[in-house]
Amino acid sequence: MLRFVDLDQRMPEKRTAKDRARDFDEIYNEFVTEEAAKQASRCSQCGIPFCQVHCPLGNNIPDWLKLTAEGRLEEAYEVSSATNNMPEVCGRICPQDRLCEGNCVIEKGFNAVTIGSVEKYITDTAWDKGWVKPITPRIERDQSVGMIGAGPAGLAAAEELRKRGYQVHVYDRYDRIGGLMIYGIPNFKLEKEVITRRVKRLEDSGVVFHRSFEVGRDASLAELKEKHDALLISTGVYKARDIQTPGSGLKNIVPAMSYLTASNRKGLGDEVAEFEDGSLNAEGKNVVVVGGGDTAMDCVRTATRQGAKSVKCLYRRDRENMPGSMREVKHAEEEGVKFIWLSSPAGFLGDDAVTGVRAQKMRLGMPDASGRQSPEPIKGSVATHKADLVIKALGFDPEEIPTLFGAPALEVSRWGTIKIDFRTMMTSIDGVFAAGDIVRGASLVVWAIRDGRDAAAAIHDYIEAKAIRDQLIAKAS
Ligand code: FAD
Ligand code: SF4
Ligand code: SF4
Repeated sequence: MLRFVDLDQRMPEKRTAKDRARDFDEIYNEFVTEEAAKQASRCSQCGIPFCQVHCPLGNNIPDWLKLTAEGRLEEAYEVSSATNNMPEVCGRICPQDRLCEGNCVIEKGFNAVTIGSVEKYITDTAWDKGWVKPITPRIERDQSVGMIGAGPAGLAAAEELRKRGYQVHVYDRYDRIGGLMIYGIPNFKLEKEVITRRVKRLEDSGVVFHRSFEVGRDASLAELKEKHDALLISTGVYKARDIQTPGSGLKNIVPAMSYLTASNRKGLGDEVAEFEDGSLNAEGKNVVVVGGGDTAMDCVRTATRQGAKSVKCLYRRDRENMPGSMREVKHAEEEGVKFIWLSSPAGFLGDDAVTGVRAQKMRLGMPDASGRQSPEPIKGSVATHKADLVIKALGFDPEEIPTLFGAPALEVSRWGTIKIDFRTMMTSIDGVFAAGDIVRGASLVVWAIRDGRDAAAAIHDYIEAKAIRDQLIAKAS
């Protein structure tokens, strides 16, 4: 260990931008075993590992780095999977520069240990070697739990509850399992096979999936509650924020999720009419994406792969104040995306379909309540950008869950996220819990996994306590 003094940081080999533009495959190759061990050995085994403190899962990073450096990969996998239900997913798509690696003590002066790439390498190897097995619970319990939503929060909770022997049912309105990991995040960041093999493992472990089952349409919350001892709501956030400017109703101004879902479905082999008719396909078009988060980065990079004529990203703040990961911005720039910083749409041009975007130049003013500088328009400074396709990536809000679920007693915050008691993860309805983006607002996969794990522990405590209470009541009567 401590090899950071003589070994430079090396990421796995990255494919060239030209090569990447031709397909939707992941952009990094896998580490070769020797290189993974070398990179892991750069860790200084800190007494207080800030990497671990800043990992939402509290992953035992120094231990699995040491085991990898020593070539003890199966043990590294055991340690890594003890705190994370999808280490190979987090290794691929966590914004490590803001989490574990950004807080690695050797980052300043020596460049961080490549924690994410090693984490991915360990679990990809475990899959290849057959170390990842279906769950065999020590005991089978009669009680059942229903998850509404099969994204990372629902799947992590499903796995943890199945390990404890519960009968687990997962309901999702989509035809495929995985939530945003399937239909939001593009293949070049997270290949779909990585998710489908996880789903198959859960099915082989006895978890029952109810696909194309929409709560609110196919059953109310109360009807589902009748069937299970506890429920978890993990439905994510999907209501796209909109732009209200002149021309915003023109054709070919589309929400990011529709665009990304069409592209992901196409990649999965589905017939997608909107892709074929060109309305959700960037090929040959001048594309402008509005927004500066991870979703916007995924849209610009998808557009380059679809063969767009030009791709621009309009963001109202500057590079330093962008919410998206800096790594993603760098990838996008390498792939030919042009960033128009400090610009906000002032209107869309065109008669029937959009032909251009009028962009208002901005400057950063006083910090707002969150401490970020607020963008202010610079009077009389407007530029026009050609556009045949505009993609709106301005973030997401929750849907009206109490109304949709026919459950007015379900309390929500003023933003529409579901209110929970953070000690018990329970909502305002007894036996109904909530986790993931629907509680936090749009966040990260790693936080959804953390919430799912916490919710599973809370549900277990709730069911156990209820069983004891029922026994005492039965004895007393
Ligand atoms: P989701 O993943 O949204 O899953 C919710 C599930 O609930 C869905 O499958 C949905 O179909 C289902 N559902 C909703 N309503 C109902 C209903 N009424 N009945 C039944 N089922 C229902 N995070 C990262 O960490 N790294 C990234 O690089 C990254 N990139 C992203 C890119 C995009 C384009 C987007 C949109 C998000 C990205 N995120 C990223 C964020 C991350 O995907 C989410 O934070 C995470 O998926 C939230 O997990 P979840 O389980 O709460 O919800
Ligand atoms: Fe880093 Fe994410 Fe892995 Fe935690 S889960 S160690 S934050 S890559
Ligand atoms: Fe190793 Fe960096 Fe974590 Fe320290 S902070 S234990 S050097 S990975």
